[in-house]
Amino acid sequence: MTQGLNAVITGSTSGIGQGIAEAFAKAGMNVMLNGFGDPDEIEILRARLATTHGVRVAYHRADMTKPGEIAELMATAEADIGPLDVVVNNAGIQKVAAIEDFPVEKWDEILAINLSAAFHTTRLAIAGMKARGFGRIINTASVQGLIGSPFKTAYVAAKHGIIGLTKAVAMEGAEYGVTANAICPGMVATPLVEKQIPDLARQSGLSEAETLADMLASNQPTRRIITVEEIGALATFLCSDAAASITGAALPIDGGWTAR
Ligand code: NAD
Repeated sequence: MTQGLNAVITGSTSGIGQGIAEAFAKAGMNVMLNGFGDPDEIEILRARLATTHGVRVAYHRADMTKPGEIAELMATAEADIGPLDVVVNNAGIQKVAAIEDFPVEKWDEILAINLSAAFHTTRLAIAGMKARGFGRIINTASVQGLIGSPFKTAYVAAKHGIIGLTKAVAMEGAEYGVTANAICPGMVATPLVEKQIPDLARQSGLSEAETLADMLASNQPTRRIITVEEIGALATFLCSDAAASITGAALPIDGGWTAR
C-alpha cells in the first residue's frame, strides 16, 4: 500500500522526523532526510535505514529558513529517490519568552522554519502530485496549533498558521487525490522536550523524573509521554490508500490534552 512511495521529511535527523523516517522506511517507502546534525551520525542513520529496509534513502542539509535551499532539497529529492508522493513538513524550533521580550529575529526564524518552509515545499511538490493523481502532505503542527499558551507566541502563531495552510492545500488537492493533514502532538519524547527537563528540575528542586511526571500530570491526561513510534505510525497510515478521505484534518495525538 505504501510500498515504493517517495517521501521528503524535513527535520528528520532527530526526534519526531527521525521517527517518521524509520516508520516510512519500514513501510517500504524511499526517503529524503533533511535536518542538521553531525554528518557522520546522519550518514550512519541514512545507511542503516537503507540497508535494514532495502529502500532508497538520501540526505540534503537544506536550511528551512532559506527558500533557495528548500528548492534545492526538493529538486535533489526528485533526482535521488524519484517523483515525490509524500511531503512531511516537520522541521521546527521553539523559543519561550514573554511577547514584550521576544527577540524579533527569533519570531522571523520560527515563522520561517515552522510555517513558511511548508509553503515552499508544498508549492514545489503539489503540481507533480496533482498530475500523477496521488499525493500526501503531512504537516507536523502541535497541540499549540489548537490552543494558546503564554510565552510561546511565535510557535503558537506558526502552528495555528500551518493548520490553516493545511486546510487550504487540502481544498486545492481534493479533486486530484492529494490529501493534506496536520498532526498535532502533545508532549513527545524527543531532544526538544528532553533538553528542557534538567533546567526545569533545577528550577523546581524536584528530580528529573518528578519534573516529567508534573509536566505530564498538568497537560496530558494519560500521564504518559508520547513516543515517536506512535507519530510515525499515524503518518504512515495517512500515506495509505485507507486514508484517502482524511484531508484538511488537524489530528490530535496528545493523550487527551485538548479534550478538556
Ligand atoms: P527535534 O529538535 O528533535 O528535531 C527538530 C528537527 O528539525 C531536527 O532534525 C533539526 O535538525 C531540524 N531543524 C531545525 N532547524 C532547522 C532548519 N533551519 N532547517 C532544517 N532543519 C532544521 O524536535 P522534535 O521534537 O522532533 O520536533 C519536530 C517537530 O514536531 C517540530 O515541528 C515541533 O514543533 C513538533 N512538535 C514536537 C513536540 C514534542 O513534544 N517534541 C510536540 C508537538 C509538536
